[in-house]
Amino acid sequence: MSSPHMGSEELKYVLEAFESNWVAPLGPHVDGFELELGKYLEAKHVAALSSGTAAIHLALILLGVSPGDEVICQSFTFSATANPIVYQGATPVFVDSEPKTWNINPVLLEETLVNRIKKGKKPKAIIPVHLYGMPAQMSQILEVAAKYDIPVIEDAAEALGSHIKGKKCGTMGQLGILSFNGNKIITTSGGGALVSDDEGMIKKARYLATQARDPAPHYQHSHIGYNYRMSNIVAGIGRGQLKVLEDRILARRSNFNRYKSYFEKLNRQGYSIEWLCEPEDFFSNRWLTTIIIDPSLNDGISRESLRLAFEKENIECRPLWKPMHLQPVFHDAPYYGGQVCEKLFENGVCLPSGSNLTESDFERIFSVLDKVFLR
Ligand SMILES: *Cc1c(COP(=O)(O)O)cnc(C)c1O
Repeated sequence: MSSPHMGSEELKYVLEAFESNWVAPLGPHVDGFELELGKYLEAKHVAALSSGTAAIHLALILLGVSPGDEVICQSFTFSATANPIVYQGATPVFVDSEPKTWNINPVLLEETLVNRIKKGKKPKAIIPVHLYGMPAQMSQILEVAAKYDIPVIEDAAEALGSHIKGKKCGTMGQLGILSFNGNKIITTSGGGALVSDDEGMIKKARYLATQARDPAPHYQHSHIGYNYRMSNIVAGIGRGQLKVLEDRILARRSNFNRYKSYFEKLNRQGYSIEWLCEPEDFFSNRWLTTIIIDPSLNDGISRESLRLAFEKENIECRPLWKPMHLQPVFHDAPYYGGQVCEKLFENGVCLPSGSNLTESDFERIFSVLDKVFLR
């Protein structure tokens, strides 16, 4: 559905690391990757880390999230957004999405804040997610956050390269996080980053990510630390991947346009399939192409019939993320909203979206779709 796609220079950087024996721990590629990523994002400071999950965890620590606190989190996301809240002994408060971007609904966000504050607890942070590469309604979200003076951690794990009016996802909140996991738009095999304009925060993140070692010749610690730093080998892969990022975005957007013309044709023939459109000034990297197919409007064809048809041909296609408030593990967490993300989960599916899909891959994909829809 979204497999790694290496360019021509990753191996060169990795070999360089081997030849200089900068295999571990940190080294020049880590510094280079942080600088190059910062330049691309137009962000002041970046810390390269072992995963996106680690980046969210450190962001929460930097904001002082502690046992008994509450953190507002978009319900429609991958579990890695919410898990670190629990690592800190805090409680996630989940909020529904709005239909335009499928991301956290800013009106509901404010209602939730008002309600939690009335109950006697002011949430410590807000985590909106730019799901599938589509930016969340950041200007409204930031306005609400500023009104109640609560910091925003942007989960841009799926949205590297996406932006609103040129302002990149991951650089709009107090802290932003990125992921370079194997299925993301670029990958280091596994990795992540924390982004901020606040130098002190990023310096502290680097310190905490390397076991919180005090400056002393012996090992001395005044804080609990973590082993969350990115290695020099992994950063070398990242430097190579950054060079092809723009190509990968073009390829993913072209996948989306290809599917869109196909489904537009089906809709003219009486089907009713929906997809995410970019609101004005929004730019999505189109990480995954996703569609909504309501069987009651589409001749009984459901997202599951589509998935099974693909599975028969050994092609992977998956339901959209199952909302966090429906997950057994978050059964007791508060949820604010209606059924927007529940409906998206019920009828939504991610189509094969890799930037390395070939013409013959697309022939196979569209022949499955033809079989399902042109019966
Ligand atoms: C992938 C992902 C993460 C976690 O990133 P890892 O690098 O896999 O730890 C967090 N949030 C979202 C929305 C993701 O898709």
